[in-house]
Amino acid sequence: MANYLKDIFNDFKELARSKRKENKKFFERLNGLDISALNDQFHAMHEEVFAETDCLQCARCCRATGPLLNKQDIARISKKQGMKPAVFEAKYLRVDEDGDWVMKSLPCPFLALDTNKCTIYEYAPKACKQYPHTDHSNMKSILGLTETNVRHCPAVFEMVERMKKG
Ligand code: SF4
Ligand code: SF4
Repeated sequence: MANYLKDIFNDFKELARSKRKENKKFFERLNGLDISALNDQFHAMHEEVFAETDCLQCARCCRATGPLLNKQDIARISKKQGMKPAVFEAKYLRVDEDGDWVMKSLPCPFLALDTNKCTIYEYAPKACKQYPHTDHSNMKSILGLTETNVRHCPAVFEMVERMKKG
């Protein structure tokens, strides 16, 4: 396990909560940056932190958050699972308060709990492959989501901590 992840993983929920106010102010400052400066900061940190991150030692996103699924995800995964989309939806999904398809239960039913591996990785939802989106081409457009992800993803938490110091 990378050092930073080992250091923060066990107390992550509490630690992230304790930084909430401080991070709110920091994100207000980030919001004042232009698109290109914001992208540069996040993209550099994304590279740096993920080079030190073994997601198989974490899997918080698969255990506690789960993805939003679009129609293409549902069509692709249900086909691979040999089910009709409606049967797949009924078995695994629910519609959340924003009207999006999400997993009915967490941890995600496609997570192998003993290894933290995704059992459908080759055809997993697009959002799973893109999470936590810190290499997005317009970070300004997802700044609110990224502030939320500080409390869900230790890698994003670490990126923000390093940005504050930098
Ligand atoms: S929560 Fe973040 S660090 Fe943990 S597995 Fe997911 S992407 Fe990796
Ligand atoms: S589909 Fe795979 S990557 Fe996505 S949340 Fe489930 S286990 Fe994780």
